[in-house]
Amino acid sequence: VLSSQQIPLTNSPKPLFSELCRFLEIVTKEKGDVKKHKLESFFKNWRRRYGNDVYPIMRLILPHLDKERTNYGMKESVLAKTYINVLGLSKDSVNSERLIHWKMPGSHKYKTAGDFATVAFEVIAPRSTVTGHGKMSLEDLNNRLDILNAASGQQEYKNVIRHFFTNYTPIEQKWIIRIILKALSIGLSEKTIFQVFHQDASDLFNVCSDLRKICSDLKDPHTRLKLTEIELFHPFKPMLAKPVAIQNIIKLMNGEKFWIEEKLDGERMQLHMKNGRFEYYSRKATQYTYMYGANKDEGSLTRYLSDVFHPRINEIILDGEMVAYDESLDTYLNFGHLKTVALDQSVSNHRSAYPLFVVFDVVYINGKTILDQPLEKRHSWLKSLITDKPGHIKVLEHKYGNETSDLTSALDDAVLLRQEGIIIKKPTSRYVLNERVDEWIKVKPDYLDTLGDNLDLLVIGADYGKGKRANTFGSFMCALRDNNSPDNKPRFLSFCRFGTGFSMKEGQDISNLIKDWTNFDQNKVPEWIVLGRDKPHVIIHPEKSVVVQVKAAEITPTIMFAAGYTLRFPRYERIREDKDWKSSTTFEEMMNLRLQSSSQ
Ligand code: ATP
Repeated sequence: VLSSQQIPLTNSPKPLFSELCRFLEIVTKEKGDVKKHKLESFFKNWRRRYGNDVYPIMRLILPHLDKERTNYGMKESVLAKTYINVLGLSKDSVNSERLIHWKMPGSHKYKTAGDFATVAFEVIAPRSTVTGHGKMSLEDLNNRLDILNAASGQQEYKNVIRHFFTNYTPIEQKWIIRIILKALSIGLSEKTIFQVFHQDASDLFNVCSDLRKICSDLKDPHTRLKLTEIELFHPFKPMLAKPVAIQNIIKLMNGEKFWIEEKLDGERMQLHMKNGRFEYYSRKATQYTYMYGANKDEGSLTRYLSDVFHPRINEIILDGEMVAYDESLDTYLNFGHLKTVALDQSVSNHRSAYPLFVVFDVVYINGKTILDQPLEKRHSWLKSLITDKPGHIKVLEHKYGNETSDLTSALDDAVLLRQEGIIIKKPTSRYVLNERVDEWIKVKPDYLDTLGDNLDLLVIGADYGKGKRANTFGSFMCALRDNNSPDNKPRFLSFCRFGTGFSMKEGQDISNLIKDWTNFDQNKVPEWIVLGRDKPHVIIHPEKSVVVQVKAAEITPTIMFAAGYTLRFPRYERIREDKDWKSSTTFEEMMNLRLQSSSQ
């Protein structure tokens, strides 16, 4: 294997793509630190030979970060079709089959299934007339990729791919395909590549998400960047929450008071505003301004924001979660609805769902970065600088806690409302870009599940919702079958409740399937039902009810339900149409499950 110092360099004044390919071939085969060293000498050689502008190669090594080429629209299937066309393969030939069904392991002859670029290489190689070392310049490749990025149809794709086929070697085409698919798979992380390129590259990328800027600001590997600051209209990498087990959280908070926030199920979004000009970016720095609006007359959100900022605010950067909100139901809709709602620019009386920006942080105010200020302070500024506008923008509220029971009861509430979970924050924490530190913690009930898919419970009762949801059910009560009832009559022991949350479509499905609810009367409890302290508003006879599959963290003792046990964090999964009151989970089965799960 050649060391990168030995990579034969041509005397061409222009860098060739084949030089990069040779490096990619070598580095793929190396392991551990050797990979990093290869990259170091590659950059060193490159700079020595071609100068300090490495953007033309950086965008090829990190194609997924190239914000100037995000529109190839070419996944494996389009590439396969285009190559079949360019190579003139007949549709039902073995090679066409291999390209189209690249994932499928074929006969033993072809062991490369699963990696499209390698399959394509094997199909291309015997048909290519380009031999020897590739002679095409890096500039040509970058220009062609720009053309491909702007292409809008099959014919244009075909022209570019034909150019690749007739001018580039098969190995080069393999790497071009990987670049187009935006995954080189050379075993070097984004972090390592940045580190090797320049010691300040990661920091700078965190505040601007802009590869071109990094390559131009950090041209000289020896000149340090003074201070990396976030800037208006440059998307930064937001602070992230770390998953931590509930029992470890109090220790991490040093026994001090912490904040408990709702974990919202939408899309992380940052809003940059300067004198009435707005931009929105996702966590991955994708522009969403075209949906939400660049100024007060546009978009599905900005048009409602003209009077929400304090008059002294000229510049601000907010961090939060964009959710879809349905005004008529007073509910957040599932994440799946967000894009439709965000794209809808109409202003009509019939419209009830809008994008709602739930703001939980502010990182920049009137020319100043405030990342170093404690969360408490940032949040109090947020409250004084932004006026909530119902249905469009609001500052997220928090509860306080200092012990484990605060966490479990907050998670209980979140589960009943079918929220995703909770986020715990240290009020003294400063804002750390692109990091998961112990000061923001996420807790999802899913992390705690120990019971598997083994609980199929009979629905025996329900409670009405509150407020605008008073005419729908807010929760359902479930029961276990009791095989030891006197006279062997069917009998059910109340066991748990699960919430329908704000927008549980399945809640409606259950209500649609169950028709004959009767009001629960404390003085006339039917003999098939045994309740604990928790009494439902309405009940349903077992023969007219349904069985639901429920998941939960664990089984714990209680006096609220007749079974003497209940589920911790129960969540509805689906209706079991194949089961009924005769085959739903029994008390004994639950007890066995409890033993099994606690002995795990
Ligand atoms: P991650 O985003 O942490 O890589 P993921 O994509 O699976 O993991 P989740 O684990 O579901 O996402 O949650 C993390 C996300 O939660 C954050 O990126 C953020 O968008 C979102 N989030 C929701 N509510 C909050 C909140 N109150 N504070 C901070 N982040 C929140």
